[in-house]
Amino acid sequence: MHKLEQLYEGKAKKVYATEDPDIVIVSYKDDATAFDGLKKGIIQGKGAVNNRMTNFLMKKLAEHGIPTHYVHELNERETAVRKVQIVPLEVIVRNISAGHFASRYGVEEGLVFDDPVVEFSYKNDDLHDPLLNDDHAVALKLATREEIMQIRNYALQINEVLKTILLAAGVTLVDFKLEFGRTADGTLVLADEISPDTCRFWDSKTGKKLDKDRFRRDLGNVEGAYEEMGRRLLLG
Ligand code: C5P
Repeated sequence: MHKLEQLYEGKAKKVYATEDPDIVIVSYKDDATAFDGLKKGIIQGKGAVNNRMTNFLMKKLAEHGIPTHYVHELNERETAVRKVQIVPLEVIVRNISAGHFASRYGVEEGLVFDDPVVEFSYKNDDLHDPLLNDDHAVALKLATREEIMQIRNYALQINEVLKTILLAAGVTLVDFKLEFGRTADGTLVLADEISPDTCRFWDSKTGKKLDKDRFRRDLGNVEGAYEEMGRRLLLG
């Protein structure tokens, strides 16, 4: 498989065409951004951890019947994935209050919810990814009502699988963001990444943050947190 022209460059990844119209190559960068792109930096080694962790978790999810865009890991930073049209929704699942849930609703971090909270944001940089509900998403034709129900079901199933895998590695899954895409025949599949960039991971014993919050909040040892998550999941 050959990398042809670059199709897209995002904040953390580049996407290249291949000779197969149904396959693209994702290349993970070390670039990090936060707060709507206002804060920028480099996290050395992040691209490799995120690539390998995403692929590891997507393979586990596939074993549990969740369709994903994953095809084949090419090298440390690059993976062949199915070409999809991304559904412009950020699908966030929360098990414990943190981040924008805590700030938006005026509660402390660390409240454990009885049931997971699923929320959607409109993936739109110019509008700063506003929160929306199912009716808004259908009215805006971002997805059909059936797709939204399916996405919600997948998101809850994914949460259960990920919680179990992470717990075995001594990590509590606080919250995370998913993105879904449609293949050429309209099938919904999990796309994007599952990594310390897109999840909040807390050490189960100490509560130490092992994710991008270390970068967002200048907590120090950012690279160390990514490496540790890589070690715990991929070598453990
Ligand atoms: O910022 P907020 O608390 O809404 O984030 C919830 C979860 O979604 C966090 O794990 C965060 O890393 C992830 N997220 C993301 N990309 C965004 C917004 C949130 O990966 N654009």
